[in-house]
Amino acid sequence: MTLPIIVQVDSVTKTYLVSAGVFKGKRKLQAVNGVSFSVEKGTVIGLVGESGCGKSTLAKIILGLEDANKGEVLIDGMRITPSHRHEISRRIQPVFQDPYSSLNPRKTVKSIISLPLRVHKLGGRKDWNRKVEEIMDVVGLPRRLMYNYPNQLSGGQRQRVAIARALIMNPDVVVCDEPTSSLDVSVQAQILNLLIDLRKEFGLTYILISHNLAVVEHLASRVAVMYLGRIVEEAETGELFKRPRHPYTKALLASVLTPQPRLRLPDTHLGVAYPNPIDPPSGCTFHPRCPKANELCMTDAPEPKLERGRLLECHFPEGAEKEEA
Ligand code: SF4
Repeated sequence: MTLPIIVQVDSVTKTYLVSAGVFKGKRKLQAVNGVSFSVEKGTVIGLVGESGCGKSTLAKIILGLEDANKGEVLIDGMRITPSHRHEISRRIQPVFQDPYSSLNPRKTVKSIISLPLRVHKLGGRKDWNRKVEEIMDVVGLPRRLMYNYPNQLSGGQRQRVAIARALIMNPDVVVCDEPTSSLDVSVQAQILNLLIDLRKEFGLTYILISHNLAVVEHLASRVAVMYLGRIVEEAETGELFKRPRHPYTKALLASVLTPQPRLRLPDTHLGVAYPNPIDPPSGCTFHPRCPKANELCMTDAPEPKLERGRLLECHFPEGAEKEEA
């Protein structure tokens, strides 16, 4: 069954001008480089990759918090433009990584959760109270916490407040940027299960950004692997985890968590460090770290190819030899 497309990201590019050092002036940093993908309604796409790969910048562009230099994002067919931003923000809401910093410490739970209603001038004070109570029930927050402040809540309760604030607008799409990574391991599963239940109950679409591949495998229907601002492989989750074809995806899936449990950065064991995005390698930008790289890879960037529902950017993908034989 084909589901309607709710999010369409089309050739999005984002470049920043950053200082290259003393006396070196400003240089271009291409955070996102011609990224395209679409998300079907009611599904979950996982965006994975190491820090600096562009996934959080892409999330901000999708949320309308940053403008793309090129390309466009459509939510249910509506282009995100400055004039549409207000309307779009009713339909797409974020849940950020760190509920400690994303919640205003001087506001009560009620004030935080009802903020989007007040910004969009939806209903009056009585409606806000009722809606806040209802959404607190939905996300499993006791109503007695309504007048508490964030510092009086546990990490899990704070993330439930952030989820309630996102859902009170009844959005179609929720962008979850590392929704569990700042939480204790024991609480992570509860928040993940809550996100799964809410998606089913409200038919939500998630764009899930995570370093944690186990979380992505558990939640996502499709996975897009990003490297230096490009999607290098995108496929249905089961297929991608069972048979990664891009050498970077393979390295990422073979990775283990670092000894820094709060960061949960995958250690790819690729030997060579992640390149500086101000000065990306020539050809295929993964070539200095790729065990399969040859001369062609050093000079020619691979074109994206779509094969049986899998998008791939590699001259010599895993399994190609078998297919040719
Ligand atoms: Fe490796 Fe070459 Fe494929 Fe790039 S194009 S991932 S360097 S094999």
